[in-house]
Amino acid sequence: MSHTEQESQSDALRRHFANRVTNQVRVLVNRWRAMQAPGIRLSNIDELAHITKNLIRHAQRFETEDLLKQAHQIDTLLTALQNTTTKLDKPALHEVHQAIYDLGQFSLRRNDKNHDIDQHIPNKKPVLLLVQPELANKLTEQLNHFDIPSIVIESPKHFQEQSLQQEASAFIVDIHFHENEQGLALMQYQHTTKSSKAEVVFLTEEYSATLQQRLIACRAGGTYFYVRPAVPQLIRSVEKFYSATALSPLKVLVMDDSKSQARFCEKAFSSVGMLTYVVTNPMEILHAMEDFQPEIIVMDMYMPGCTGTELASVIRQQPEYLRLPILFLSGEEDRDIQLSAMKQGGDDFLTKPIDPKHLIATVQNRGERARVLNNLIVRDSLTGLYNHTHILDRLQQACRQAKEHNKPLCFAMVDIDFFKKVNDSYGHPVGDKVISALSLFLKQRLRHSDSIGRYGGEEFAVILADTQDKDALHVMNEIREVFSQLEHSAGDTEFKVSFSCGICSFTGDNFEHIIKHADEALYQAKRQGRNNVQLYIHDTPAAP
Ligand code: GH3
Ligand code: MG
Ligand code: MG
Repeated sequence: MSHTEQESQSDALRRHFANRVTNQVRVLVNRWRAMQAPGIRLSNIDELAHITKNLIRHAQRFETEDLLKQAHQIDTLLTALQNTTTKLDKPALHEVHQAIYDLGQFSLRRNDKNHDIDQHIPNKKPVLLLVQPELANKLTEQLNHFDIPSIVIESPKHFQEQSLQQEASAFIVDIHFHENEQGLALMQYQHTTKSSKAEVVFLTEEYSATLQQRLIACRAGGTYFYVRPAVPQLIRSVEKFYSATALSPLKVLVMDDSKSQARFCEKAFSSVGMLTYVVTNPMEILHAMEDFQPEIIVMDMYMPGCTGTELASVIRQQPEYLRLPILFLSGEEDRDIQLSAMKQGGDDFLTKPIDPKHLIATVQNRGERARVLNNLIVRDSLTGLYNHTHILDRLQQACRQAKEHNKPLCFAMVDIDFFKKVNDSYGHPVGDKVISALSLFLKQRLRHSDSIGRYGGEEFAVILADTQDKDALHVMNEIREVFSQLEHSAGDTEFKVSFSCGICSFTGDNFEHIIKHADEALYQAKRQGRNNVQLYIHDTPAAP
């Protein structure tokens, strides 16, 4: 057997095990999710432990150290639960949830040593493109860069002939596809006749889209409707369907001193896959919020020690919680008292007893809308990454958590090299495209648990949670390497761009130092000739 044949065989074997590991991670994550609705039982724990042991077996053969460590942690937690004779307790289950969630996130990092893991996420369904040929070409090329498969649909006949529709993860549809309004008509047909869960993104070239057209688009299942969209915007809207761990569940904090009432809410929310955190002592709410970071609060009105309205006022005193929806759920029927509660920071008032369906629908609506609004506020419009202010907030929070849980943390600053030249040679819009490309690139290559922000014009900041400095260096270096090989285009010309990066690990001191030091390391990387990653070297205390 020749050397290369041997190599390709071992590659194939590696891929085989990578697939197995990925599948097993998915089995675990999915089983865990499915168990939430009816409520977790002891027999479930046995099943999870069994799946986890399988995962450990596969992971051992594939030599994936970090993943193995995480799987062992889950195994330990589950074994402890198997040995309890009493009822399963909430904090322990919460810990299991976190560990399984982290595992799902973890398997998303593409450029860890176990490179193949995410490349082989099964069922990568394509995006179907029902747009004019020129845009179709552009989209295909860009989607390709991000490993998102796509199929160009040439005609309505082509669309209907194939069984393509069921196989798609999303449709990008020009409402005027092919002939007047064929796009809308095709999607209407698809929406009413098929049970496909694919997302539909509509777009139109003119600003004159009528309300009528928009209504039809809504009724045909459209989630987005863009007028003259930019390519990055379109890519962003489909990109999120490609995460192994779909959208994260909505996080609801239930504040009620009555345990049975709290349990009622919890049961309702977890039946639809929301993550619930119950607080029964009002004095503990701020700590719980810090810990859990809820996206919505459901609060009782009358509790020992203080009232719900007082508590809402206290929460609203803190700027970071100004946008957080607070729903009162109480037996109080007096309209005046209800109105005054809303004046003091409540967003809605629901009266007990309540039909769980009504409660769920209200919380889901409010929570999801808050998420969307929040995204508009904390995200940069060109790239969809966190904006400058928010990434700094995240860093501060991440430092606090790293210190509390004694976990490592790294902060990286990224700056595109000679970016002025890109603008000068090809124009500002092409420069913008490069910025979008790098941002998508970072999103694709980093874990979900890593926070990415646009720090300034062509500068980015990355918070690598639970990451040692040598691993951060490795990860950022691989990203740098691959990015520098990416071809960008400006008309007929193709060109390449690189970036430099400075990394600093968190040592427990002031969070502002980490920024300053990462910046110094970045400067160092630039001085070394650019296309380079440098780690900030902390002073070691002098020997006594
Ligand atoms: P260096 O390798 O030292 O980083 O060189 P540079 O040219 O990248 O650095 P410099 O900071 O001198 O220039 C950055 C340029 O980025 C200047 C500015 O016009 C451009 N820029 C900043 N924000 C944007 C943006 O949003 N879009 C585009 N197209 N250009 C931007
Ligand atoms: Mg700069
Ligand atoms: Mg620069």
